[in-house]
Amino acid sequence: MTTKSRLLLIVTLMLLGLTAATIVNISLNFREYSINSAVEKSQMAANIVKDGLTAHMVNGIMDKRQYFLDKIATSNNIKSLWIARGDKVIAQYGEGLYTETIRDAIDREVLKTGESVQKITENAKSSTLRVTIPYKASTPIDNTNCISCHNVNRGDTLGIISMEFDISEMRSSGMITILKILGINLLFIVVVLVLINYYVTPYLNLFSNLQNGIKKAYSGDFTHKFSTKVGGDAKNVVEQMNSLFHKMQETFGDIKHNLATFIPQRNASSDPLHEAKTIISELSDIYKFKKTIELDASKDEVYSRIIDILKLKYHVGHFAFYEVNNITSERKLIYSTEEDTICFEKTNKNALECRAHRTNSVTISTEFPNLCRACVAINIDYVCIPFNINHDVSLTVSMTSENRDEVELMKKNISSIRHYLEAAKPVIESQILMERLKDTSLRDGMTGLYNRRFLEEIIDKIMSQADRKKDTYSVMMLDVDFFKMVNDTYGHDIGDKVIVALSKVLKDNIRESDLAIRYGGEEFVLMLCNATEEGAMAVATKIHSAFGALSFDVGNSEALKKTISIGMAKFPTDGDTIWKCIKYADTALYVAKDTGRNKIVEFKADMFKSGDEF
Ligand code: GH3
Ligand code: MG
Ligand code: MG
Repeated sequence: MTTKSRLLLIVTLMLLGLTAATIVNISLNFREYSINSAVEKSQMAANIVKDGLTAHMVNGIMDKRQYFLDKIATSNNIKSLWIARGDKVIAQYGEGLYTETIRDAIDREVLKTGESVQKITENAKSSTLRVTIPYKASTPIDNTNCISCHNVNRGDTLGIISMEFDISEMRSSGMITILKILGINLLFIVVVLVLINYYVTPYLNLFSNLQNGIKKAYSGDFTHKFSTKVGGDAKNVVEQMNSLFHKMQETFGDIKHNLATFIPQRNASSDPLHEAKTIISELSDIYKFKKTIELDASKDEVYSRIIDILKLKYHVGHFAFYEVNNITSERKLIYSTEEDTICFEKTNKNALECRAHRTNSVTISTEFPNLCRACVAINIDYVCIPFNINHDVSLTVSMTSENRDEVELMKKNISSIRHYLEAAKPVIESQILMERLKDTSLRDGMTGLYNRRFLEEIIDKIMSQADRKKDTYSVMMLDVDFFKMVNDTYGHDIGDKVIVALSKVLKDNIRESDLAIRYGGEEFVLMLCNATEEGAMAVATKIHSAFGALSFDVGNSEALKKTISIGMAKFPTDGDTIWKCIKYADTALYVAKDTGRNKIVEFKADMFKSGDEF
């Protein structure tokens, strides 16, 4: 039942109840009032009869009394009126007229008790009020003394006066009144229902409109347009709801759009709220994952986190995790839940046998029969995800299952798993770099600093990281002034000592994130990461004076002091590659040498001679 029907039914029932109560109340009162007025009339008639009979008696015209009684009856609308004598009056004056006999038990009872009786007799056609009143011997009133003529005591019942009134008319007029009330009430009910219908329907429509809008909003759809024909507050509510929904739609649209930039490959959902919640929770998980792996000590530790995510978050029961060397195409099994993987043996020697790795696309066995030729497993489905870390390294996650439902779940999780790999990518990349940096072939044996090969092999990777992280570098080229003379004068051993001492000065004055490279014989390159111009100059000055302060024992109580010249350039403001900046720093160093040595010179664009450009 609709709210409207329910409301109309309740109002109708209430009004009908009220009508019924009114009718019952009025009919009871009307009946009581009708009877009371008939009784009152009968009392008056009885008194007239009593007084009239007394007058007849006093005037000695008792023989005319029947005429008097008939007149009273007709003039008072009394249906029948009769009197009857009591025993004592009969004993004194005889039976009286033939009409003056006791007619029924009521006459007899009133004669006996002296108490008046009234009774209503009703049938389908008529209603009759019967009133019988005793005629008692009384004290002299208006000079009438009953006892003076009658052999009775005061208070004795001399006789009775009985009257019958036809009150049918009262009943029918009561019925008519009730019908009128009923009619008026029914009319009132109809008017009330029409008015309720007229005034309430727009509100009920508004409520159902609001309900529909809110229902849609629950499922994330804020496109509902509220409307109402009602003015005033209802109109304000509708306007406010519309602007609220518009704002919500815009806000959620923005949130969805912004979140999609973090996690772009999600399936479109009709519920932006739910989608936003899912994306935020996934982002939060990935953020926590990223924060954790950033503090991990090694690449293997990061790999073990990815393995844990596969096991614990995605509940992958069977999988293998590989690291592939993109240069040699060799594949290394990092972890497998099984002793044997599904891949053909030689795939590890030649990763190009792996379809996922070769095509760099997710390979799902259910999409085509015998999809990957390197798979030796029968009746096992696989979902293999390749993931490129950098030019040298990529990963492959090979998930397997005999259960198609599990495969469907794996397919659903592909993009989510890739988000974790994406988050791990820069960390793995820098761990790989860190591993390379520890490689001794990239270091100079005499000073322990990185060598020129390091620059040639690693610098591109460092630069791609710098690009991504928006790192800047201050590049310095340092060279000992007149070093040849040291070798020539004191021998190579002293020369070596000077080189080692300078490298120590360099190490002591740079931070962990900075790089010191022995570029040539007594030439060094320094790369200060994210240093300000002033900061870089301060470091150069410190190194310059710290080295200048050193004394070298060259025997014969002689002390040797040396100086250095430094050329400086900034990446990426002076040059957009590190090689250019090294070249510019060298140009600045050349200027320092050329203009007297033992100084620090910053690169300026006008130091170029034409033909020097890259
Ligand atoms: P300038 O002020 O112009 O730099 O003059 P310089 O004499 O220092 O000239 P240059 O830089 O060309 O001299 C480099 C010399 O460093 C030449 C080479 O014999 C010497 N040398 C290179 N490697 C080593 C090394 O490992 N040990 C020693 N002792 N000497 C080296
Ligand atoms: Mg030199
Ligand atoms: Mg030199």
